[in-house]
Amino acid sequence: MYPDALNILLVEDEKKIADVLKKGLVEQRFSVEIAYDGLIARRILENDSFDLIILDINLPGMNGYELCKYIRTRNEKVPVIMLTALNAIDDKIEGFDAGADDYMVKPFDFKELLVRMKALLKRIYQVQQGNILKVSDVVMNLENKEVTRSGNIIPLTSKEFQLLEYFVRNKNRVVSRADIALNVWDIDFDTKTNVIDVYVNFLRKKLDKDFSPKLIHTQVGMGYILKDPSN
Ligand code: CA
Repeated sequence: MYPDALNILLVEDEKKIADVLKKGLVEQRFSVEIAYDGLIARRILENDSFDLIILDINLPGMNGYELCKYIRTRNEKVPVIMLTALNAIDDKIEGFDAGADDYMVKPFDFKELLVRMKALLKRIYQVQQGNILKVSDVVMNLENKEVTRSGNIIPLTSKEFQLLEYFVRNKNRVVSRADIALNVWDIDFDTKTNVIDVYVNFLRKKLDKDFSPKLIHTQVGMGYILKDPSN
């Protein structure tokens, strides 16, 4: 469902709870960073980005509401689940006001937390990853088939679009002409024909000629590679 292990920030000052949660999440193949203090969490958030944040309310340093408001000034999309020991309706309202997406009352069932996390991640990922592919300054909209580079529309034919999509999904990896033939044209080409090279050249002209850095490169004797300059 997800491209890589997702990064979770867990902000919880009760060490026992934090450690148990982390263990469970790591078993679910999430990558988890713990902050036991609100100010430390804020410092971590200044430098790193996360796919989901689990936030206790009563914390030393800076409480969960303030932290959530801080998160929302920087990233309006990241899902935030708040934790509290109190089952008070006021807490819930304050949490949603601060920008939380969901709320768990301690003690809670780990499975329920997982279900809610997955629901939030799915919602975000359907929008971000399902319809949009990005590499460098290139944005591909898979729904309306529009491609832009640095905000300029790049008009592509449908074959060129499929070719670019294949390159982007395999970025930083050498793909052979046979790989391209099989995955973009859906047939075993006689790789002696130059159809693939012709199309790659069409695509390069449109995508790379007037922009830098160049993204699509020839690997002599092997095929092509789309290099993401940010990696
Ligand atoms: Ca606490």
